[in-house]
Amino acid sequence: MDLGIRGRTAIVCAGSKGLGRGCAEALAEAGVGLVLNARSEGPLEATAESIRARFQVPVTTVACDITTEAGRDKVLAACETPDILVNNAGGPPPGVWSDWEREDWLKAVEGNMITPIMLIKAVLPGMMERGWGRIVNITSQAVKAPIANLGLSNGARAGLTGYVAGTARQVASSGVCINNLLPGIHATDRADALDIKVAESAGISIEEARARRAATVPAGRYGTAEEFGQTCAFLCSQHAGFIIGQNVLLDGGANNMML
Ligand code: NAP
Repeated sequence: MDLGIRGRTAIVCAGSKGLGRGCAEALAEAGVGLVLNARSEGPLEATAESIRARFQVPVTTVACDITTEAGRDKVLAACETPDILVNNAGGPPPGVWSDWEREDWLKAVEGNMITPIMLIKAVLPGMMERGWGRIVNITSQAVKAPIANLGLSNGARAGLTGYVAGTARQVASSGVCINNLLPGIHATDRADALDIKVAESAGISIEEARARRAATVPAGRYGTAEEFGQTCAFLCSQHAGFIIGQNVLLDGGANNMML
């Protein structure tokens, strides 16, 4: 399918690996030029080079921490008229309710709520003026079904979800579509890190931890960054103009709910 976005420009935050990279690759495949961000320069440059070679689109890299104001300013300066924004950042660490002090909460809220909100606020006026824009926020299945040991993530992402629910509807008539993509379990470094913690605390191998987790998913497997990215690219496509303020769950059927 032609997504109708060839020649457009996207900012993809936290996109050198994992789900962000999946989104960057799928957008590039659709002919979208990229401003690609992550903190570590080496992996970021390697990903950018791979995308340029595979899809022949321009890729500008901005190595910085997107959860800082200086980082966000750098990314926005590299792309003055973005058509598409994919918001992403690393997720907060797991734990129990008593682990988290004020500083931990501020960090989680800054990274997974304030950062995407500030980027949305920065790009919206231009998108509205030009009459076209697509914003996709990578959040989590935890928004629909909170996960006990991811309290920091549950809280911060709930705040972003509430903001998007209102904002998406306030700007929809200007041709800007804002939606959230909610990953369930996907095979990325982040999933590995969580599986390693489970393996250590349960005294089992990482393979066993992975197999047990995959067995909780009706699809019987982890999702891939590629299929996640293709869904993101569709939400950024010309065809997605009537999809507004949705929370699209990609979880292999793991969360059994009516709505
Ligand atoms: P990942 O494989 O660990 O990749 C994270 C990417 O983000 C890397 O490119 C990393 O590069 C970049 N990054 C991290 N923090 C950053 C920062 N502060 N500024 C700029 N770039 C940053 O993670 P993932 O699995 O794709 O997860 C992406 C998001 O989805 C996370 O918020 C995660 O919590 C959420 N999620 C994932 C799953 C899953 O199963 N994978 C499920 C639910 C939710 P650098 O380290 O070089 O910066």
